[in-house]
Amino acid sequence: MARNCGRALLLAVLAALVLTACGSSTGTSSTEQKGDCPTAAVPVVVSVDQWADIVNRLAGDCGAVTTIFKSASADPHDYEPTPADLVKFTGAKLVVVNGLDYDSWAAKAVATLDRKPTVVDAGRVAALRGGDNPHIWYAPDDVYKVADTVTAKLKLLLPKVATYFERRHTAWRASMRPYDAEIAKFKRVASGSTFAATEGIFFYMAKALGLTDTTPRGYVTATANGSDPSPSDLNALQHALENGEVNVLIYNTQTQGAIPSQVRSTATAASVPIVKVTESVPSGFSTFEAWQVSQLRALARALAR
Ligand SMILES: [Zn+2]
Repeated sequence: MARNCGRALLLAVLAALVLTACGSSTGTSSTEQKGDCPTAAVPVVVSVDQWADIVNRLAGDCGAVTTIFKSASADPHDYEPTPADLVKFTGAKLVVVNGLDYDSWAAKAVATLDRKPTVVDAGRVAALRGGDNPHIWYAPDDVYKVADTVTAKLKLLLPKVATYFERRHTAWRASMRPYDAEIAKFKRVASGSTFAATEGIFFYMAKALGLTDTTPRGYVTATANGSDPSPSDLNALQHALENGEVNVLIYNTQTQGAIPSQVRSTATAASVPIVKVTESVPSGFSTFEAWQVSQLRALARALAR
């Protein structure tokens, strides 16, 4: 009897614990405490995966990060969010977007929210405007500026754990040392080399590395506007490849099309090395730094040939 009573009491205590646990949860995993964060995580939405790893690393366990677009097999420029994607913005306290008309659907989603989250617009952080090249995750200085801004906003949103976010930022910055080192090394050995590109995604990095762009202007403008270059622009690019004016061709593997593959064939025939780059993070890379370093090393190898 006493034993049964004890068991009943235990069950009652367990039931009470379960009820308490349910009561303390607000229903979404995003506001629960996790890992090494001393408080409930702040819900964060990142529009495109180029920024997701960085934001995840900076937020750590004090952020519940949801990324909307993350596919290296699709073209982010053509992306249309689904209704389910738009629902993911609900409850976000921080939204990180690329801006520069790259992901305007994200800004539109934010505009529909009753409770406006803090927004970090990478293009604005980089002091660029609509019409400028939007591929700013390829601009090392801007990557660091955006990261600094994300950390500053996280600290404002969760001031109690400001030092946690500062520690995360220091650790992330340290993890970027191979990226800094690769850029510095490249500048010492390959600065002044020429390149042409099938698309403008690598533009800012090429500039940071000291490479000279020999892609015909007409070709650059046409691809930036999402249209086909004129036959004379295509001819000019093929000519430059055939005449040895281009040390390396930078080829975006994420955009398929007759013209890029024609350019690639010309480069192959003319023995111009080709370096593949992608717009978003390809599968197989767990960090932004690993992805970028891999591409930088491939470029250095191509130019060393
Ligand atoms: Zn692009």
